[in-house]
Amino acid sequence: MGLTVLLIDLHNFKRVNDLHGHPVGDELLRLVAARLQTILRGVDTVARIAGGEFAVLVQGPALQLEIEQVAQRVIATLGQPFAIASTRLSVEAAIGLASGRPEQTSGDELLRDAGVALYAAKAKGGHCCEVYSPLMHSSVLESLRTESDMRCALDRDEFVVYYQPVVDLSTVTIRGLEALVRWNHPQRGFLSPDKFIPVAEATGIIGAIGAWVLRQACHDIAAMHGLSPPLGISVNLSALQLEDEDLIATVSQALEQSRLDASRLTLEVTETVIMNDVPRSIQVLTALRKVGVKVAIDDFGTGYSSLGALRYLPVDTLKIDRSFVTDLARDQASADLTRRTLQLAADFHLHTVAEGVEEVEQLEILREFGCEAVQGFLFARPQPLAGIVALLNTGLQLPEPASALGATDGPGSGCDTGRGNLNDAAGSEIHRLDHTSAGEPASVAVL
Ligand code: C2E
Ligand code: MG
Ligand code: MG
Repeated sequence: MGLTVLLIDLHNFKRVNDLHGHPVGDELLRLVAARLQTILRGVDTVARIAGGEFAVLVQGPALQLEIEQVAQRVIATLGQPFAIASTRLSVEAAIGLASGRPEQTSGDELLRDAGVALYAAKAKGGHCCEVYSPLMHSSVLESLRTESDMRCALDRDEFVVYYQPVVDLSTVTIRGLEALVRWNHPQRGFLSPDKFIPVAEATGIIGAIGAWVLRQACHDIAAMHGLSPPLGISVNLSALQLEDEDLIATVSQALEQSRLDASRLTLEVTETVIMNDVPRSIQVLTALRKVGVKVAIDDFGTGYSSLGALRYLPVDTLKIDRSFVTDLARDQASADLTRRTLQLAADFHLHTVAEGVEEVEQLEILREFGCEAVQGFLFARPQPLAGIVALLNTGLQLPEPASALGATDGPGSGCDTGRGNLNDAAGSEIHRLDHTSAGEPASVAVL
């Protein structure tokens, strides 16, 4: 007879405790246990292992289909809201499942395999069930290694903040910087965020990393002198940071310690994270704006918010996702959507930044559509602070229009976009983009 173990992690259990108090958290655990019992038989076992983690031992199912049906029943029952006192609580569960025959797999092995599957489910962001397969082992081991290395990385000063300029299109000057974290891993080399941020999010380490990036970015920008007006700084916030009860204190502390004026800091939250729990997002973003910082919706256009929802969100800036910008010059649908989004942002008095601008043609179209600012490799890649200081002192360089458009003067070159050429649109400033609007190179120093 086969055995199946399901490990269930209530992802938001700590938040329930923090927000509603421990008696509500305890009651939630009792109700979860009771619901699990109702969908199981007398021979099956439910146990609470730790915190918001439960284990279910199901006896008998042998077919993959039957096993998955058990998991679906668990997901369905926990998907219904829980009424506690006057509160309705939703539970976000990640489930790891492993099965085996007692003569082939020991109890410890079964639990370990279910743990590996649970880790994979959490890495996918929860709300799902992952069934163990031996193939999972290597990728989970890799994530576990990343996780354990990451726990020491902050103490060892292995993280580095890179900065990418945000360029104002009306003055063609750098108006601010976005802080983008990198990990200088002793064995694996320089790692970009996609190699470690997902693991940092799944394990909660993102809280400490995010707080460090925030402190470092505020410190770096406050230490820059000689710029008028001073630069703004944008820092990305993860979903977990937005849920963190200490977020406001962390932000206020970073501002106090660096003596940075709150109005110079923008916190970026992705559209998907904001839309995940709109009432909660509105509450947190409103509290952040009360501190004096600005809020930007990052990667706008990749989530599922109706454009009308923009009216109610306490945000200052909309960052149009690179996926729209990439096809701007070639795909009419991308161009139409970008134009409408920019119009709507203007109607709601939101500032706009387009991400991932790599071609002069994209820049021209964005300018024509009324976009306020852009970020992209066309102007500058993310780089260490020293590179940014050098850029501010020498002025940004853009490629010559013809080479940027990848064309010669011959027919069919694609230079004539029907939107006027770059020199007409931007004047002589476009080739040399100094920070000061007077066209004089800035004199910037980090003190
Ligand atoms: P994001 O916040 O949307 O940042 C923009 C990303 O686009 C950056 O990737 C940047 O290097 C890239 N990019 C900028 N211009 C161009 C361009 O012209 N072409 C192309 N192909 N890419 C461009 P990066 O640095 O790899 O960061 C990726 C994502 O990782 C960020 O997207 C952000 O969501 C996340 N991230 C980075 N740093 C942090 C952090 O400190 N905290 C958190 N929570 N997330 C971070
Ligand atoms: Mg961002
Ligand atoms: Mg973005």
